[in-house]
Amino acid sequence: MTTTMTLGRDKFIPFSPPLIGDEEIAEVVDTLRSDWITTGPKVKRFERQFLEFVDAPAALAVSSCTAALHLSLLALGIGPGDAVLTTAMTFCSGVHVIEHVGARPVLVDVEPDTLNLDPQRLEDAIQRVTRTLGLQVKAIMPVHLYGHPCDMATILEIAARHGLAIIEDAAHALPTHYRGRIIGSAQPQSAVPVLTCFSFYATKNLTTAEGGMLVGPPELIDRARSWGLHGMNGDAWKRYGKEGTWFYEVVSPGFKYNLTDLQAALGLHQLRKLPQFHARRQAIVRRYQAAFAAYEELQLPPERADVVHAWHIYAPRLNLDCLTITRNQFIAELQEQGISCSVHFIPVHLHRYYREKYSYVAQDFPVAYQEYQRLVSLPLSPKLADEDIKEVIAAVRHTISAHRAQPESGRTRAAVGS
Ligand SMILES: *Cc1c(COP(=O)(O)O)cnc(C)c1O
Repeated sequence: MTTTMTLGRDKFIPFSPPLIGDEEIAEVVDTLRSDWITTGPKVKRFERQFLEFVDAPAALAVSSCTAALHLSLLALGIGPGDAVLTTAMTFCSGVHVIEHVGARPVLVDVEPDTLNLDPQRLEDAIQRVTRTLGLQVKAIMPVHLYGHPCDMATILEIAARHGLAIIEDAAHALPTHYRGRIIGSAQPQSAVPVLTCFSFYATKNLTTAEGGMLVGPPELIDRARSWGLHGMNGDAWKRYGKEGTWFYEVVSPGFKYNLTDLQAALGLHQLRKLPQFHARRQAIVRRYQAAFAAYEELQLPPERADVVHAWHIYAPRLNLDCLTITRNQFIAELQEQGISCSVHFIPVHLHRYYREKYSYVAQDFPVAYQEYQRLVSLPLSPKLADEDIKEVIAAVRHTISAHRAQPESGRTRAAVGS
């Protein structure tokens, strides 16, 4: 049906394929041939190198970002009677872990441009939770959506005023910079504890297939380390000198969240390559932005001044007024042309579990709800070749041209004013 279909390409352009090189493969094999395949020397090395990369005071390698988020709540002692504020526009796992510890997740709507948690709505949410729910707000969980940082200055200021901790979901934010600091770096001027959670899931900017990293103040990382390894007290051996080789004390009903050396083997090389991966992501995004700039049918993703965007996800929005098709049809047409797309994210309050538990309606978070309906995530990975990107651009342009609301007018941004 389209020219791209006849160019001899009969497979999909994948959405976010991992880029694994011979170095990663050799390191995994080296681990397999050693006597140590689970948490050991390679995890230690990976933690140390990662901590240096993001300039963090302490780091704990874990089995996933979800685990890091869960451990953050546990380390901060958050539980029943507490509330945690987070964004409606995110993946479900950050909200799930708030439920897991018995606290109340309180969703907050997003800024129209970045789709990040809107700090202007935090005060209101804090007042509402305290007065009408009788709960104590303990933390804010901002998500640096797509790799664009949240407005951390305002969020930190509000957190300091109310004595709240910050748990950053940085699953997309590697490497992200905000006002000259890399996300994950120590916040010397911060009056509140800040924990930052990274994901090494298969699609993320750095992958260990599954995995994550928690960084933050050493005392909290120590507590998280114990919670993440059966609640065993790592210091027990010091207190029981001679029995050191076998004795441990269990101080909480902890979880099993450790990363393995097999996974760290991947991470060590992925981390080394991260700057070049990031440069490639930036180059792809520049091509997309340039190719789509003239299309009033698309609203391009923003990058505010004084930030470095990690570009984990490239999610333009459809200006549906300019098109005769819905977002779902748009995606279906791209898929037919061999382009795999996605949507990030279905807002949390629309999912059945949360909708029913908290009696949410779609309009409770009007910005998240409205923007959700016009979001499209396009393929983005350092593994994609210039040819692949060209095909994505051609397919997007073709789909727009085929479904313009007014084919003769409004072709360029110059005509938008009408
Ligand atoms: C991927 C992702 C997570 C979960 O990461 P895992 O490592 O798979 O647990 C959390 N939050 C966001 C925003 C994500 O995209």
